[in-house]
Parts: sequence; structure tokens; C-alpha cells
Amino acid sequence: MKLSCEIVQDLLPLVVEGLSSEQTQAAVIEHVAVCSECRRVKLQLEQDVVPKIAPEVPLREVKNAITAKRRRTVAGAVGMVLAVVFCVFARLTEPVWLPYSNDLLTVEALEVGDLVVTVSQPHSGITVDSAGGETTLSVWKNAISPQNDRETVVIPREQLGSALYYADFAGEDTLIWGSTSADGRQTLPRLVMGYYLVIAAGSVVILGILAVVVRKKKLGKPLFYLWLAPVCYLIAHLGVMGLNTITADAVRSLGWILAAAICLYLAAVSFIRLGWRRH
Ligand SMILES: [Zn+2]
Repeated sequence: MKLSCEIVQDLLPLVVEGLSSEQTQAAVIEHVAVCSECRRVKLQLEQDVVPKIAPEVPLREVKNAITAKRRRTVAGAVGMVLAVVFCVFARLTEPVWLPYSNDLLTVEALEVGDLVVTVSQPHSGITVDSAGGETTLSVWKNAISPQNDRETVVIPREQLGSALYYADFAGEDTLIWGSTSADGRQTLPRLVMGYYLVIAAGSVVILGILAVVVRKKKLGKPLFYLWLAPVCYLIAHLGVMGLNTITADAVRSLGWILAAAICLYLAAVSFIRLGWRRH
């Protein structure tokens, strides 16, 4: 069958899309094999058809979605792992204050007025704290620090004040050198972590109620993410300190709790956005 170029070019769109009869297709292909002009038109049509079958833009969107999914999965997993690592490390390095006993330490006053304290029981460290004209000394150990069997610290005269106490944060301090008029001195453990815990728990309740009330509105999502912050703080507190709220070193405890809470928050947001994306 002999076809003119005009007819072939009219038929080419149907042939390229596979919508023509076998007879037409055979005739057009026969023509195209010997006519360079129609071959050029056919090639052009084929290039136009390809993007229709596999559109470029949605493909890129699918790729982006997969990348975002992977990124969120990784961020969530890293956050969770770091939070657990911080909690475990905080517990392993948590100082345990040794209770005072007569054979825990000896005190010797030098002629210049300096005081030499020798600790002769296994311990990880000695903390000396001078405030208000008196000095407080504590001996502690933790699970992972190397332990000394014997250690000497010198407290210079100018730092010493009028009295040296031993504090184990469990009861009354023990006067180990000097004199004082006050009885029943007690170095209180820091209670501030308990206050933070109450504030966090209160925020969880109040923000939780607010988030539920406005959940259908524009503020619902931001409030939910805000609510998540004190929730992560509570979980981090449990991880670092358990149900305990008393610490002798509030800065240390708060630091570990915040580090764990931020990682938890990052993980929670990543996993939640991963879940929402799927629907
Ligand atoms: Zn032709």
C-alpha cells in the first residue's frame, strides 16, 4: 500500500500510541522505512509520548518522598539510641555519696593552718565546697569511674573557714574539724528537680487538654508538638533519675535529662511525621 507523506503523518500519532490497526501500522512503518522526513516526525512523536508514560515530575516527588522517609527513619532511630545512651551514661556516672564513719577519713591540721584530709576507703572522688565561712566535704563513687583506695586532699587555711563538715545528703552533717555554735546542720540535697517534674507534668495535662480541644483547628498540630516537649522531659527524667527527684548535683542531673529529652523529642517528631506521611 502506497501512502502519501501527508496521510502517514496524520496516522503516525495513532501508530506511535499503538491505537491503529495492524494493517495501518504495517503500511505506515513500510513508508517510514524509506522516507526520512516521516521517520523524523515519528521519532519526534515517540519522544513526546515517553514523558506521558513515565512523567518526570511525579517520579521526582516519589523519590523525594522516599528520601524524606529514609531521613526521618534514620533521625528517629539516632534520636532514640542517643536518648538511651544518655540515660544509661547518666546512671553509670551518678555519684553515690558515702555515709560518714570513723574509718572513712582522717583529718590532720598542719602548723600553717592548712588541713590534710586522707580518705582511706574505696571511692571515685572527693568534693569540697566552701560557703558562708564553713567548708563541706563529701566522698562519692559511681559505677564506672576508677576507684582510689586512698587519697589525700589539702584544704588551704584561707578556704577552710571556721569548721569542716562531712555531708552525705542523707541526714545531719558531721563536724569533722573546728567548732560551731549551730547544732543539727544539714546540707540539703537539691529539690529543684522535683519542681521541674511538677511543672512538666502540669504542662502535659494543660497542653494535652488544649491540644484535644483545638485538634480540628489550625492550632491543633503546633499544640500537639508543644505538648510533646514536656512528655519527652518526663520520660527523660524517668530514664535518668527514675522516680527519684532528689539530687546533690542539680546542674548535672538537669543537663543529662535535657540532653535525653531533646533526642527523644527529635525521635518522636521524626516517627510521627513518618506515620502521617503514610496516610
Ligand atoms: Zn513520507
